[in-house]
Amino acid sequence: MKKTKQFTAKKYSRLSMSWTVLIIDLCFLLAHVFYLIYFRISDITEMFVFNIVSVSIYAAMAPVAFKKPKYITLYSCITIVEVLAHAGAATLLLGWESGFTMFMVCCVPFPFFLEFKFDLTAYFFDGLIAAEFITTRLITNSSEWIKYTHISESEMNRLYLVNTCISFLMITVFCRVYKKAKRIDKLTMKARNETLTMLAKIDPLSQLFNRRAMADFLKKLEQDAHDGRGGYVIVMGDLDDFKRINDTYGHSAGDTVITTVSKIMTEEVPSEGYVCRWGGEELLFAVPGMDEAKGADIAERIRSRLAEHVFTSADGSGFSVTVTLGVCGCDGSISYEKAVSRADKSLYHGKENGKNTVVCASSLSADTEEN
Ligand code: GH3
Ligand code: MG
Ligand code: MG
Repeated sequence: MKKTKQFTAKKYSRLSMSWTVLIIDLCFLLAHVFYLIYFRISDITEMFVFNIVSVSIYAAMAPVAFKKPKYITLYSCITIVEVLAHAGAATLLLGWESGFTMFMVCCVPFPFFLEFKFDLTAYFFDGLIAAEFITTRLITNSSEWIKYTHISESEMNRLYLVNTCISFLMITVFCRVYKKAKRIDKLTMKARNETLTMLAKIDPLSQLFNRRAMADFLKKLEQDAHDGRGGYVIVMGDLDDFKRINDTYGHSAGDTVITTVSKIMTEEVPSEGYVCRWGGEELLFAVPGMDEAKGADIAERIRSRLAEHVFTSADGSGFSVTVTLGVCGCDGSISYEKAVSRADKSLYHGKENGKNTVVCASSLSADTEEN
């Protein structure tokens, strides 16, 4: 809990979208491979050639759709147009009884699932589908239009049945996909909210929690201690003579110091602890279930690691920075604000006594605390 947690929702939703688009494409590819074989066997040359083109379109679209699933509206439009053209051509060549018009009806709901720039586009699509449906009906009323009249009645029944099954499957797959798309939308939204919530809690320079987020954690620790679920320790650190560091080596060198000390602190504080940037060059951490002595040990490790660290300035010279830390162990008897104030007083006691040190609140006399 020292820093941000990992978010997988966004990644998951992007991945699912790619797979969903790919699976739909492959379903259509497979259906057209079936029709390709069927029309080849039945010697229906026009539809055989049509299906070669269809298979090529879906085969070419598969890798593109997987890589760029965000263009789902475009892929869907290509698919709808292809299905309508296929259904129209097959109906005109084989007759109304072939059952290919069912695919036209199947297409009716899908324009409404897509995100068009203009809402009327979906109605336009459905108008075209209705026009195609009626026109093919009127044309095939007269049998002289139908080229392949040699197909037997039983063969026609079989084809009708196969087309029924495939079109029902198509509707089922699409409904499933629609449900999935809704879930993906929800996940994307969740990921966005998680990011926003996290951004509101994180200090951009140090990548530590900010003061507001820390106050929430401290409130929880205070409540736990109050309810007898164990105390906690608060440690406040303030960089020594930081103004001079900025003045001598520049503001960006100062920023590097802040990120380095933040990193050291994050590494030293156990995972159940919280680390935050309390203010400009003040950092604060709190660890539940830890007493003052153990908190002081961690503070001492942070102090000595920073003191040993050699920073490099813009002109290549090395410099070092120290930090003074105040430690306050808390049980449920004091508020977290009081505990922070005691850690702060200990810290300033350390500043007054030469800096680069760790001071425990319990070591201060009552007089010193009062001041
Ligand atoms: P002391 O040892 O008593 O703490 O002295 P100090 O110089 O560290 O304290 P002072 O409060 O006088 O100065 C703190 C400086 O920290 C002043 C401010 O410019 C600098 N500072 C605050 N936030 C940032 C930051 O984000 N980046 C940089 N580079 N400097 C910062
Ligand atoms: Mg300060
Ligand atoms: Mg300072």
